[in-house]
Amino acid sequence: MATDLPGAALDTGPGAATAPHAVYQSWLDREVLAFQACGACGNAVFPPRSRCPHCGGPELGWRRSSGRAVVYSATTIEPRGGEPYCVALVDLAEGYRMMTDIVGVPASDVRIGDRVTLRFDQSDDTVIPVFGPDEEAR
Ligand SMILES: [Zn+2]
Repeated sequence: MATDLPGAALDTGPGAATAPHAVYQSWLDREVLAFQACGACGNAVFPPRSRCPHCGGPELGWRRSSGRAVVYSATTIEPRGGEPYCVALVDLAEGYRMMTDIVGVPASDVRIGDRVTLRFDQSDDTVIPVFGPDEEAR
């Protein structure tokens, strides 16, 4: 049993959901960015799964992310007739990588290595995790 897991512990989920992606979304609906950590090898696991992709172990516990991340890669999407926006891969402080939108800054200004922090986009029916510039780092 690994004792030094990344992030803060969460219980199994706020709702009745048991499928990994459903539990993840139920935490998002409460504005919590959750990820899993493996009780056997201690690695962070994302996106949500039933078994650890590192060691195959089934002991995946839910953890709360700090929402602090660094841009690993970024690209600007320029839809015809729409505003450009930035899609990025970000490395979270807890040791996992996720794809997200970068908001609050012109898409062309996003650079690899930029520090970003979590925000929640509720413009649709579903809560979506997005990231914006880390104001403390500026
Ligand atoms: Zn593992």
